[in-house]
Amino acid sequence: MRLSFYPYTLELAHAFTLATSSRTTTPAMMIELERDGITGYGEAAMPPYLGETQESAAKFLRQFDAGSITDPFQLEEILPRIDALAPGNTAAKAALDIALHDWIGKKLGVPWHRIWGLDPARAPVTSFTIGIDTPEVVRGKTAEAAPYKIIKVKLGRDTDKELIETIRQVTDKPITVDANQGWCDREEALRMSEWLAARGVVFIEQPMPKEQADDTAWLRERSPLPLIADESVQRLADVAKVRGVFDGINIKLMKCTGLREAHKMITLARALGLKVMLGCMTETSCAISAAAQLSALVDWADLDGALLIKNDLFAGATIVDGRVTLPDRPGIGVVKR
Ligand code: MG
Repeated sequence: MRLSFYPYTLELAHAFTLATSSRTTTPAMMIELERDGITGYGEAAMPPYLGETQESAAKFLRQFDAGSITDPFQLEEILPRIDALAPGNTAAKAALDIALHDWIGKKLGVPWHRIWGLDPARAPVTSFTIGIDTPEVVRGKTAEAAPYKIIKVKLGRDTDKELIETIRQVTDKPITVDANQGWCDREEALRMSEWLAARGVVFIEQPMPKEQADDTAWLRERSPLPLIADESVQRLADVAKVRGVFDGINIKLMKCTGLREAHKMITLARALGLKVMLGCMTETSCAISAAAQLSALVDWADLDGALLIKNDLFAGATIVDGRVTLPDRPGIGVVKR
């Protein structure tokens, strides 16, 4: 196979503010794997707090000898070899995994949800994320979220309650909240969970720092709302550790190295009785459409990443009636715009 890649900067429609940072762009690396006249597309989206950069991704990708792939279908042989090239680099690894999946699906002429035996109509509704902002902007974004049936809110600041109240002035749709490890005191976290439960919140994502697993388990025993692990779970090996601490996990291709591992994580989470959410970074429709191929397997989808950017390079999965809807195209289902 022939590998090519180029850096690309995703421009965000709104400044994205989390408990710990704010930014207007996301660096990405776009990749292409070509063979037999078929091109598989892949993407590494790298929000700065995760530690990867366009430079680190380029360095990693240069280490990979795509010419050594004799049979691209042998993912169980190729992907572990890619994983062993260097620790970390999960987004760069995901880019290769996505491109390989895209190539295989195109070669077979079928989309991945069909290869996995899934009914795409069973995909859950997807949430639309509203970041921390002034009440005016929050009201505007809530109105913008009209086509979505669930709203996701980033919390973790002293203005959390005000933010929820502001959204509740505009809509009574279900809300999911993501504290991004923002709550350090478990008693306070419990009071917050009770307050949020009374306001139509569905679950809390990563309420406490990942280092505070014992406090999170304490909170889970008492919390009226389910707790979903995000920062506490990166890869397959982390899933079992979550049992008894969280009620479910948030899987993202960019942290787990791609579709192959994500599929395994879903299988393991189900066997352990955990709920599953499928999330994303700000990404183009390339990585979003790849993740969407798995969406019929999960309880909650949070695949709004491509809607939050202004310069999407691809057309792929779309949101129809609040649901991630896949086009009838092979592979991951994308075409270049
Ligand atoms: Mg999160």
